[in-house]
Amino acid sequence: MKSNNDPERLIRPHLLNTKPYAYVSPLEALSEDTGVATEEIIKLDGNENPYGCSPRVREALSTYPYYHIYPDSEQRQLRKALEGYVGVSSRRLLAGSGSDELIDWIVRLFIEPGDRVINCTPTFGMYPFSTETGGGRVIEVPRDEDFAVDVPAVKKVIVKERAKLIFLASPNNPTGNATPERDILALLETGIMLVLDEAYYEFSGHTLVPLAGDHDNLIILRTFSKWAGLAGLRVGYGIFPEKIARHLTRVKPPYNVNIAAQIAALESLKDLDYLQPTIRAIIAERERLFTRLAEIEWLKPYPSKANFILCHVIGRQARDVHQELRRKGISVRYFDTPRLTNCLRISVGKPEHTDALIAALSQIC
Ligand SMILES: *Cc1c(COP(=O)(O)O)cnc(C)c1O
Repeated sequence: MKSNNDPERLIRPHLLNTKPYAYVSPLEALSEDTGVATEEIIKLDGNENPYGCSPRVREALSTYPYYHIYPDSEQRQLRKALEGYVGVSSRRLLAGSGSDELIDWIVRLFIEPGDRVINCTPTFGMYPFSTETGGGRVIEVPRDEDFAVDVPAVKKVIVKERAKLIFLASPNNPTGNATPERDILALLETGIMLVLDEAYYEFSGHTLVPLAGDHDNLIILRTFSKWAGLAGLRVGYGIFPEKIARHLTRVKPPYNVNIAAQIAALESLKDLDYLQPTIRAIIAERERLFTRLAEIEWLKPYPSKANFILCHVIGRQARDVHQELRRKGISVRYFDTPRLTNCLRISVGKPEHTDALIAALSQIC
């Protein structure tokens, strides 16, 4: 029985029914659990960049003299540098503490309690997480058997539920497939606010940024976490319609992107000569990993435009495979949701990581 002065009764009731985000274990915890040294762990569970960040980032962070001063709330230098990289005016750009934070702001800006938000499942967990914590209602529209967005079904739901917002990751996480431009344009025509999450743009090479200026209902999200190897520093950015960009200060905390993250992002943009070859190496390795996985008869890998590959495990338990790999110091992501029963998602590592993974999988069999 909860007494009248139990502080739990003060929590917003709808939050007690929401699911916490299922995050991946940090390196130290993996090391402690498995007895494998931190530097020996092969971490293929978070879509992180195995080559790490640009050396310029380490250098700049070690010599920066003003950590005791608040960061620029307007992110002037970073937005200016992004203007060159993205190719849109800095007025339409704003950075967040990871693109996760931007997802949260978007919900805060648009969603009133009970407002409908469309989520094309299976997809990234932050969309329902932020929608529900923000009081919105998630309407799931399942993707088809190839994980393509079911455009006619989404259009119907937009009308029937008077949905305000749709989140769409392309390439999608965890399935790896991209949504064709014509499908996105068809959804934009309905007038719904469409949040296109291009977290894996650098690995797919395809973007809708050139069309963004023509659509007042298109927000594009990007991140430095994957391609630039800055997942631990938390910095992402959004490309917003001008009419929306000027309202973002209503939901943005003043110093949201810390100074280390701003410096790291700036230095990354100055060091594309270092980063681009690592992106190309990851793309090449993705194709090799796919071929090797497809050779294992109890695995069905799905083609991917990102830096990870989703695999169906056939005729054995993905949970056991996940545990076996983990005991050997290889961490991959395990899924067991209705649309992803018995699935593993494997991030693309360096060539030697692929070799160790394939060797471990062969031993399991
Ligand atoms: C990893 C990922 C992000 C999160 O990016 P952060 O900038 O690290 O918050 C956003 N969207 C998708 C689809 C992702 O897979």
